[in-house]
Amino acid sequence: MELWYTEKQTPHLGITCQVKETLCTKMTAFQELAILDTLQFGKMLVLDGMVQTTVQDEFVYHEMISHVPLVTHPNPEKVLVIGGGDGGTIKQIIKHPEVTRAVLVEIDEEVVNTCREYLPEISGGALEDPRVEVIITDGLEYVKSCREEFDVILVDSTEPVGPAVGLFTGEFYQNISEALKPQGIMVAQTESPFYNGDLIHSVTQRIQKVFPLTRLYLAAVPTYPSGLWSFTLGSKVHDPLKVKAFKELDTRYYSPELHKSSFVLPGFVRELMEEK
Ligand code: SAM
Repeated sequence: MELWYTEKQTPHLGITCQVKETLCTKMTAFQELAILDTLQFGKMLVLDGMVQTTVQDEFVYHEMISHVPLVTHPNPEKVLVIGGGDGGTIKQIIKHPEVTRAVLVEIDEEVVNTCREYLPEISGGALEDPRVEVIITDGLEYVKSCREEFDVILVDSTEPVGPAVGLFTGEFYQNISEALKPQGIMVAQTESPFYNGDLIHSVTQRIQKVFPLTRLYLAAVPTYPSGLWSFTLGSKVHDPLKVKAFKELDTRYYSPELHKSSFVLPGFVRELMEEK
């Protein structure tokens, strides 16, 4: 019998894929976790019924959340990731030779352990790199009480439900700004412009209140709702549109051209950023 998995991406629309095998399902202290092996996208991490990443298309999201800010910052030595327990973002971060320390703060240890076991190709062993420290705690609390300053902070969070709700608030962005060095940059994943326009509007307004420069950029991720995904960047000094020196990076989606073109926004997305 054929097995199909459907994620209801909106109350009226879903994405359905054929499942070869259900590799793991468990209830963690924070969420329902599943690893499915699908015919179209290969192995996939699903949290609370929402696709987080797949081995086929993970490179788009992970390259774009990390290389855009790490190339914009002239010397990204210390990088903090909030969420991202699958390790895909850390794998991209440590491709930058300037990085001396990368901290991953994930609330759910089961995500880290289960992805290590079933999805090792997503992190590619990056969590074992000597520059990397994995801390299991709430990112909200970590950033609030952080004694260390970072060059770049990435918010690689789940959708704004459950423990991730606070990761989309003005107070959190203020705490991020305080945990960044004077030339620091933050990027947060900010969902689909087609389905989450109100969220993008409020998040960009909140980031604009805290950072002198706010820019939104886009990438195409087939397994995410609508396929068009947004990232919002807040910067104290450096403008991603004025990068002087691009570096050679081993990537499959990101490139200097893509870096620039990802900031070219359709009119309806530009409107989401405007004050109402
Ligand atoms: N690429 C993904 C996406 O956009 O769908 C995000 C993937 S990553 C698996 C998201 C992680 O954020 C989850 O493992 C979740 O446990 C973690 N998370 C949610 N709220 C958190 C919090 N308050 N502090 C730290 N991690 C959090």
